Amino acid sequence: MIHNNILSIPLMNPIFKGITAGLRRCFIPVLLILIAASYDAQTVHSALASENPAAGARVLLYHRFGPTVADSMTVTTKVFVSHLEYLQSHGHTVVPLKRLVDAFQRKGPALPSKSVALVVDDGHITVYTEMYPLVKKGKIPVTLFVYPSAISNASYAMTWDQLRELKNTGLFDIQSHGYWHPNFKKEKKRLSPSEYEKFVDFQLSKTMKTLEKKVGGKVDMIGWPFGILDDYLISRAVKAGYTAGFSIEAHPFSNSDQVMKLPRYLLTNANKGKDFEWIFRD
Ligand SMILES: [Zn+2]
Repeated sequence: MIHNNILSIPLMNPIFKGITAGLRRCFIPVLLILIAASYDAQTVHSALASENPAAGARVLLYHRFGPTVADSMTVTTKVFVSHLEYLQSHGHTVVPLKRLVDAFQRKGPALPSKSVALVVDDGHITVYTEMYPLVKKGKIPVTLFVYPSAISNASYAMTWDQLRELKNTGLFDIQSHGYWHPNFKKEKKRLSPSEYEKFVDFQLSKTMKTLEKKVGGKVDMIGWPFGILDDYLISRAVKAGYTAGFSIEAHPFSNSDQVMKLPRYLLTNANKGKDFEWIFRD
């Protein structure tokens, strides 16, 4: 519309007529170039929009380690070593979980290809006795999702001193797993709506404050206890200040994932050899 007006204004004046003819000659090729450029920009833009920078990244979730399989959530230290060796020999790069989240939200620097993050739920003592020496040797970043009620309290859990020691290596990030590993599904049935709201807010906020006070660092990620989550829990977590949450859905990060329920592969001792390698198939 604007271009047509410009071309029609000077028609009465012969000087303008020459300019107008020139403009007309230039106008169509320029217009075609502009349309082509705009089409290219749109194509590039939609290609970028469709591919999340963290798509394909995997999060591996552990619980306990040890020389033997003490329970269903134990991965023997030997099998864990075989996981680390596989990652190294197949060109995977272990990055801090936070870095995956930043890339997912298009905030941080580009990820190395085949990025993987290691996380451990629950704060079990074998993280300190079995896993720590290995990740220290390999300088491997790890994120722990812990519930404060167990720390320096339950016999199977780490102490605050041990957690601080891990944090101070710069390799470990300590994040939230609720205050006492709540089962939100059970509590929702048991409590009135207002009691449930208070319960949820306590579990989310108290954990954050306690970990920040006792261990330091920013606590803004939650590993949902038992993998239980829904829209209500997510809305309360966002209100409390969480910026990322993790389920136990076993698949790589993808375009359709949401930041408050990012997937994690829950590993047991059965995940060795081919039963570990399947995680990394394209
Ligand atoms: Zn747990």
